[in-house]
Amino acid sequence: MISKILIANRGEIALRVLRACKELGIATVAVHSTADSNAMHVRLADESVCIGPPPSRDSYLNIHQIVAACEITGADAVHPGYGFLSENAKFAEILEAHGITFIGPTAEHIRLMGDKITAKKTAEELGIPVVPGSDGEVKPENALEIARQIGFPVLIKATAGGGGRGMKVARTEAELENAVATARSEAAAAFGNDAVYMEKFLGKPRHIEIQVVGDGEGNAIHLGERDCSLQRRHQKVWEEANSPALNVEQRMNIGQICAEAMQKLKYRGAGTVEFLYENGEFYFIEMNTRLQVEHPITEAITGIDLVHEQIRVASGAGLSAKQEDIVFSGHAIECRINAEDPRTFVPSPGTITHFHAPGGLGVRVDSGAYQGYRIPPYYDSLIGKLIVHGRTRVECMMRLRRVLDEFVIDGIKTTLPLFQDLINNQDIANGDYDIHWLEHHLATTS
Ligand code: ADP
Repeated sequence: MISKILIANRGEIALRVLRACKELGIATVAVHSTADSNAMHVRLADESVCIGPPPSRDSYLNIHQIVAACEITGADAVHPGYGFLSENAKFAEILEAHGITFIGPTAEHIRLMGDKITAKKTAEELGIPVVPGSDGEVKPENALEIARQIGFPVLIKATAGGGGRGMKVARTEAELENAVATARSEAAAAFGNDAVYMEKFLGKPRHIEIQVVGDGEGNAIHLGERDCSLQRRHQKVWEEANSPALNVEQRMNIGQICAEAMQKLKYRGAGTVEFLYENGEFYFIEMNTRLQVEHPITEAITGIDLVHEQIRVASGAGLSAKQEDIVFSGHAIECRINAEDPRTFVPSPGTITHFHAPGGLGVRVDSGAYQGYRIPPYYDSLIGKLIVHGRTRVECMMRLRRVLDEFVIDGIKTTLPLFQDLINNQDIANGDYDIHWLEHHLATTS
């Protein structure tokens, strides 16, 4: 059994994991950089260890410091949260070599899905439908031939990709050479690996992802989908569950395909199988082998605590539920509150002078922010997540409108006004949007 967990992360997700540990009676260790000494997750943890200066590479990405912090505190497991080291196979291996449990999948599965070409091949072998595209890596010299086979427009993507980086569209043959060169140099700069591959560029898809969780022994279930189509620069802004675009039959079909794939893989832990969805068809794009930012909307409609499940399977206790126990109830929406200008999206670090979180039935705020908290400029700008649940989508939207009026964050700029705008938009009310809707909306309403 696991008795003490070191949380190798910061911000709202560190707090989220800490809450699950407390509920399970597991002791917690927070780690933090010198910029985060006053952070909420540090204050609430049983113990804390400073692991270095502000830059992530010297602290939250510093494997040696984190392993040393485990040894000093006697932590027997590490929860990596999302981002930072959560999809670093080497980190998982080093922990295991020190006899510390990594709360996540095996290093082998992290590696398999971390490379998008092998991920796609594996998905196909497991019976998951994939986006039509190149069979493996694309070199500049064979790009044209492959693009002609796929048919324009095409998308050039980085094999090591993440966060929407190293991705370029080529609408015509004339644009191809430049798109391949730019994607390769962006990929080299961002990931130290310039390998790229090619996919059919889908015109008006939705982004729909399936939550899965497995015990590593061949038992795996799905917890339905999340619709994350509202994006800016390939970054999710608003997510909902269920998707307004799917019916029950479609949900259960794609869910079952993913659950069966994870059973065959003997996948351990929580994971997300991401698809683009267009004209009734699903196309796999990637799998994330970690907890996602938007996991709370799945928790809201299923009542399953995903971090509890992660800890259970990591300690060998198995899943708490079977597929037939999972009941989807109502509708949930998450708004990502970033410390950014709501129009220009320029980061707005600084001190929060006044903070009041909304409450009431069906309202959840996951945030490490508080009045007087100084947001450091070194990390991503997500300062909180607002999750609202209702019995129907209409009730959820009505509740969200009320809750947005109640939320007060003063002293910095936040993306709250963007959600005030979206909640009053007719397309959003109708659930009628694709992955390009938000960018188009922002461009035409400024
Ligand atoms: P990353 O790992 O960088 O986030 P993904 O493969 O998950 O990359 O894709 C991120 C987003 O990019 C998707 O949600 C979608 O908006 C867009 N995208 C990815 N592949 C395609 C495609 N073949 N056609 C159109 N849009 C795509």
